[in-house]
Amino acid sequence: MDNQERNFMDLSQIPWGEVKNHAYDVVVLPWGAIEPHNFHLPYMTDCILSYEIAKDSAKKAFEKSKTKSMVIPPVYFGAQNPGQWNKPFCIHTRIETQKAILTDIVSSLHGQGFRKLVIVNGHGGNSFKPLIRDLAVTYPDFYIVSVDWFGFIPTEGYFDEKPDEHAGEQETSVMLHYHPELVDMNEAGDGKVNPVKLKSLQNKTGWVPRNWDEVTTDTGIGNPKKSSATKGKIYAEKVTESISELLTELKYYTI
Ligand SMILES: [Zn+2]
Repeated sequence: MDNQERNFMDLSQIPWGEVKNHAYDVVVLPWGAIEPHNFHLPYMTDCILSYEIAKDSAKKAFEKSKTKSMVIPPVYFGAQNPGQWNKPFCIHTRIETQKAILTDIVSSLHGQGFRKLVIVNGHGGNSFKPLIRDLAVTYPDFYIVSVDWFGFIPTEGYFDEKPDEHAGEQETSVMLHYHPELVDMNEAGDGKVNPVKLKSLQNKTGWVPRNWDEVTTDTGIGNPKKSSATKGKIYAEKVTESISELLTELKYYTI
């Protein structure tokens, strides 16, 4: 990778001497979780994938439109359901903590003159909307966009299994594309999902956080067995193409 390109991708690889000479258009913040992912994916899956998706998106935006993005290191701390946070090393992060982290990031970036931030979220339990609404009051000239990389392109036509939520075919395929060395398909459980007990909740009359111990025995939700690196590559290409379009549009957007 040439020196110029890497300046617009990944802060973990770049010294200040290279950073300080550029005016960046957009800051990209990957955000994940620390939680079990069936028996075949690592705890850090949501951080690793949001980070890779963010870097590929920034790279494409630079190639296409010379958009100067900077991907800052991922935040690891996600919001967890009951039945997950009782597992060893799974860390539940309260909304107050997430808000404190995001507020500190925004106030630092704002003070440095940045005005556009894209959160690339890799964890279904994270919800940034209320935080972004509050921060828009405090920092009306700071624009924050939240993207769930796994959620804005329907999986139909890309993956076969339903449901496909957690450590299932979609997430496993994308991990096989980026980091096959971290996937052990021989260990994968079938991600079978038991319905929640109350009928009204099955019918979606109301909502509770599902208790993972009730709905799954291997912590997965969705069968990963049909996963492949090829499926993951095709889907990740589509996702990163769209996010790179967003970064390009933000470059030219006046707040
Ligand atoms: Zn995940």
